[in-house]
This record gives sequence, C-alpha cells and structure tokens, in this order.
Amino acid sequence: MMKTLREQCGIFGTFNHPEAAKITYLGLYALQHRGQESAGIVSSDGDRLYTHKGLGLVADVFDKDSLDKLIGKSSIGHVRYSTTGSNLITNCQPIKINYKGGELAIAHNGNITNSEELKLELEERGAIFSSSMDSEILIHLIAQSTAKSFIDSLTTSLFRLKGAYSFLILRKDRVIGIRDPKGFRPLCLGKHNDAYLLASETCAFDIIGAQYLRNVEPGEIIIISDTGLESIKPFAPTETSFCVFEYIYYSRPDSMVGNTNIYNIRKALGAKVAEEHPIDADIVIPVPDSSNAAALGYSQKSGIPFEMGLIRSHYVGRTFIEPEQSIRHFGARIKYNPVKSVLNGKRVIVVDDSIVRGTTSPKIIKMIRNAGAKEVHLRISSPTWKFPCYFGIDTPSKMELIGSTHSVEEICKHTEADSLGYLSIKGLKEVIPGFQNYCFACFDGNYPGGKPAKLHKEILEQRY
Ligand code: AMP
Repeated sequence: MMKTLREQCGIFGTFNHPEAAKITYLGLYALQHRGQESAGIVSSDGDRLYTHKGLGLVADVFDKDSLDKLIGKSSIGHVRYSTTGSNLITNCQPIKINYKGGELAIAHNGNITNSEELKLELEERGAIFSSSMDSEILIHLIAQSTAKSFIDSLTTSLFRLKGAYSFLILRKDRVIGIRDPKGFRPLCLGKHNDAYLLASETCAFDIIGAQYLRNVEPGEIIIISDTGLESIKPFAPTETSFCVFEYIYYSRPDSMVGNTNIYNIRKALGAKVAEEHPIDADIVIPVPDSSNAAALGYSQKSGIPFEMGLIRSHYVGRTFIEPEQSIRHFGARIKYNPVKSVLNGKRVIVVDDSIVRGTTSPKIIKMIRNAGAKEVHLRISSPTWKFPCYFGIDTPSKMELIGSTHSVEEICKHTEADSLGYLSIKGLKEVIPGFQNYCFACFDGNYPGGKPAKLHKEILEQRY
C-alpha cells in the first residue's frame, strides 16, 4: 500500500535570470522554515534540465560545485517537511521526468485529497509510481493525456485533482506556477530586473532584493516564457479557502499576504486573546520564536510588560537525536532555556501560537516555574486545534490532537498552568483580513471540498 504524504513545503521558481539556480538557492534559503528534510533544484538551459537534490537543509544539500552544474536561466526549487518515516531520497523534490512530451520537472506544496483513488486508477492503466508523493500523480495524468498541447494536458489533469496544491512546473522553455481553485496554499509572483519569480512566501523575494508583484490567484495558472507572462484561469469559480494557519504559525512574520503583513496579524491575534482572556500578571513572555509577535500584541493590549523569559537555541535541527528518557525533559531543555532573573518571583503570562499534541506546554510551564515564577498563565493565539489537516499542514491524527480528546479545563490541568485561554474562532475571524475566504477546518472540522477519500487499501478491498 502506498503511504500518502502530507506535503508541507516551500517552492521557488525563477525565469530569465543568468544565475537562475543561485537565485533559487537563495529563495529556498528564505523558505527553509517551510521544510527542513530535503531540498532540491532543477534548472533549464533552454535545451535540457539539470537536477540536484538531497536530504537535509538547503545549506547542506548544495555547495558551489552542485550549483555551478545547475546551468541555465530558469529553475524551480523545493524544500520539504515530511511526516516521520517518509524522509527518503526518492521523496525529494522537484521530481524530474522525461516523457513523450519531453523533459518536465515539478515541485509541489499541498496535499491532494483524492490521491488514493487517482493512484489506483492510474496503476490500473499501467502507471508505476516511484515515490509516495502526491505530486507524481499529476505527472502520470499529464503523461497519459491525449490532449494536443501541453497546457491542455495540464489543465485537464488539474481538473482531476481535489485538495490543496501550489505547483511549479519547469519545461525547457518555460516556468509555470499553479494555485488550486480554493487557494489553500500561498504562491506569490515577483520580479527581479528582467526575471520573473514565483515563491511560497514574499520573504523569499526580499532576500534577493526582488519586487513582490502580487499573489498568484486561486485557480490561476501563470505561464512564463520568452514571450512574457501569460495568465489563464481554466477552473470554474469557487469559494476560496486560504489556510488560516499560514497566518497563525506557518509563514514567516516578515512575509506579506496581499497588502497584509503576517507579523501584524500575529500581533493582532495576541491582542485579541488579551481582550478575550485578561488576567492580572507581572510579565508577558512568548514561546520563542513563533509566538513573539502574538506575545507582544498581548502585552501592548493588556499594558503588562513584554519580556523574553525563554531563550531559544537556533541550532537545534529536526535531526537532533534526543538521549534516552533517563534525562527527562531534555528535548525541550535543549531548545529553550529560562531566564531566571526575568521569571523569578513573577506572575507570568506565557503566550504560544498553538497546542498540537500537548507535549511542549507542560515542559515549558514546568521550566518557568522552576525558574521561580509564582504563577504561570497560558494563552494561545489560535482556537483549540481539534481536527487534522488534510490540506498540507503536517498534523497528527485526531486521537493525538489534545484539543480533540480533552476539554480546555483538562488541557489546563495537563499543562499544569494556573489558567488557560484560547482565542475564539469568532476572535480569529475578526482579526484576519477580509479580502479572501479561509479554511478553518483544523478548528471547526468543516473541510472545504470534503475530507480525503478512502485509503488505497480500503478502495481495493471494496473493488476486489
Ligand atoms: P505540541 O507540543 O505538540 O503541543 O506542539 C505545540 C508547539 O508546536 C507550539 O509551540 C507550536 O508553535 C508548534 N507547532 C504548531 N504547529 C506546528 C507544525 N505544523 N509543525 C511544527 N510545529 C508546530
């Protein structure tokens, strides 16, 4: 049985730059927070495609030699975050293939919810999958298409996909950017001198001094070639569902979504929790770094001073191997260290952006208490996370989500906080910008376009 992976990733594309692969490398560097398990770039010199990819961080995967070999003026790149057990070299992207239409490379951010059905259908027609990535489905659909032009094969193949996808496609003569009709995952268009750029987030444009032009719109396909930029919108209009978690945790705070800056949204989320769950205390501290802006917003709204009561080590990678259980709490300790002189004798409000399994909060609260805090109040700048994401954010199953199995009172007891307050869904909706519609499925269980279809095994059992 094929295991479906959740593709929680960052993508970057360059067209018409003399150092396309190096620009893409820098773009991926800025998108590293979106995936730390593998990185890859495919470039085109107008005739052939060249690939380099591997497991690890961008800086580990590429060196001068490998970048020098990625010749040509266009390229696409990918950083990937995968669920446990799936960090295989075969699952690194971009995927490059050579089919009847020539060479093609593809990079994907998202999660196709009807992937199991489509894989079975394609396998029955003879397709052989070489990875467990959803993205390979699009390649097989394109390869089996009988449409006359590449764009027709692409659009008819995209019509078959359900769920969340932002794709970059590289052909020898063009770069194509695609956002699914509901626009779950971000994709932005930028310009640097004569080069067009496509990136998951605008922070990837800033690193090279490029200009952010606009978002690729939900359901839009942008084709960039020597003849310029062409935009087509082949999908029937539908309500959009941008992932609200991009605002809460996932995107970098310096990134923009339209005219809105993520940092400002996070601050406003923190201020909203302060309004909804006020408490008398001496200091407000974040769980760094993802909650810094939310804690600052809480502090400014409540008038309670902001302090850095926890210091985060920036050198702890996901590959860090924790020692045996004999050193309890070592994992959290290696990542965060309390500043005793800030916390000692204080009533502390600690702000975090989310509780997923409920592993981090109790450790952090214990740490703050051990540093001498008199009281510790936990505030979460998002609503209770109750439902798994099927649209590209890596989440555990429903049973493992503490917000799904426990009440707020029980979670408070579990974390040993003196009090716990989550942002309400209403509060969240009041803060986020109104220019688009959102997916709130992780909080309300309402999955836009529906949940994933049955598993491979279940479909097989039903059929045979
Ligand atoms: P947990 O310990 O499982 O409750 O996770 C809570 C912590 O994970 C919070 O400090 C969040 O900032 C962080 N977090 C939230 N979502 C994600 C995610 N998708 N991937 C990694 N970390 C996350």
